[in-house]
Amino acid sequence: MEDKIYDVVIIGAGPSGLTAAIYTSRRAMETLVVSKDIGGQMALTDDIGNYPGFELIAGLDLAQKFKTQAEKTGTKLDFKEIVSINKEDKIFTLKTTDNSEFKAKSVILAFGLTPRNLEVPGEKEFTGRGVSYCATCDGPLYKDKTVVVVGGGNSALDAAEYTSKLAKQVYLIHRRDTFRGEQVLIDQVKATKNIEIIYDAVTSEIKGDTTVSSYVYKTKDGKKHELTTDGIFIEVGHVAKTDWLGDLVEYTDRKEIKISRDCETKTPGLFAAGDITEITYKQAVISAGEGSKAALQAYKFLQGDKPLAPDWTPKK
Ligand code: NAP
Repeated sequence: MEDKIYDVVIIGAGPSGLTAAIYTSRRAMETLVVSKDIGGQMALTDDIGNYPGFELIAGLDLAQKFKTQAEKTGTKLDFKEIVSINKEDKIFTLKTTDNSEFKAKSVILAFGLTPRNLEVPGEKEFTGRGVSYCATCDGPLYKDKTVVVVGGGNSALDAAEYTSKLAKQVYLIHRRDTFRGEQVLIDQVKATKNIEIIYDAVTSEIKGDTTVSSYVYKTKDGKKHELTTDGIFIEVGHVAKTDWLGDLVEYTDRKEIKISRDCETKTPGLFAAGDITEITYKQAVISAGEGSKAALQAYKFLQGDKPLAPDWTPKK
């Protein structure tokens, strides 16, 4: 167990967590980022075309840049999963899956969302054996093969577009007849010859032997259809896994963390930023901005009554 008490422990190393780390480190706060991975959901995105300053960049490359910048400013990183947090005498204690413990004067929750499951027969059984939640990671396994992508948001459109460059045939299955993704992506997918879009189709089962062999869906008329496929990418959004925070924070009905305008939770010293919070738009650039707000607020919290230099002063 470490005896050290960090000024701030940040949970998560996506755009919000790493931006927060850059800000806290630059304010000379002793900063530790604890995360399962680098980049979170952003790192799983093939091409990012809406992060200002980068016309087109792979999510993993952008995440790597965030990490390098955070480390250069003095942030320490530890790859672990936090499972519990409590506060006693103004100090937070965080426990990990491997029974390590970290202590901190303030904490920023920036651990993002978790992929949603379809909850259909065969899904659990074939996860890692043809069923995947990450096209960027597993797409290359399907060179010249057939894949099914399920979903109708940007992630599914992205996954269909990316896998179409590798696979022989891609089926994009959406449960409605309109996509909720960006028009530019929709146009791109519709113009790609080896992507067939199947609308108004609901997944009923994933079949296989040792690995996936087919995908079964139901259409509006109640008829069942079966597609022979080598792989299935499930890209149906995300859920907030926040139960472990107990009553330290307040929740929305979607289990996101409620925050003030400045990223405070109901517990003094505990802040939250990015996709895991109630913000409407789950975008990398917004998460980065929220991370910087949480960091500045954590700094203010540790300063106590000391006056802060304002970011701007109105003209008299
Ligand atoms: P999303 O926008 O929430 O879309 C989820 C999709 O999955 C929806 O089309 C939804 O259908 C469908 N869905 C949900 N549950 C389902 C179920 N049980 N069975 C079948 N379909 C189901 O999630 P996302 O695509 O992962 O995107 C999350 C956020 O990240 C968004 O804000 C997105 O813009 C952002 N993102 C951006 C980019 C980019 O800019 N390139 C890339 C990836 C993600 P309905 O439409 O019927 O609800």
